[in-house]
Amino acid sequence: MHKQCIICGENKSKTDFEYGNRNNRSYCSACNKIDQRIYSSEGLEAVKAWRVEMRKKWQ
Ligand SMILES: [Zn+2]
Repeated sequence: MHKQCIICGENKSKTDFEYGNRNNRSYCSACNKIDQRIYSSEGLEAVKAWRVEMRKKWQ
C-alpha cells in the first residue's frame, strides 16, 4: 500500500506517513524532518515557501 506525499510528490510506503502521534499524515517522515528543521530555524513563512518550492518540482 503506497501513498503520495503532498510535499515531495513521491509514492512511499504507508509506514512513511506514520510518525509522531498520528498514523495518517499527508506528508512523509523525510519531509517532516526538513519541515521541522526549517520551522525551528526560520519559522512558518519559510516552511510555507519551502513547501511551494517542493510542489513546483512535480505538480
Ligand atoms: Zn515527502
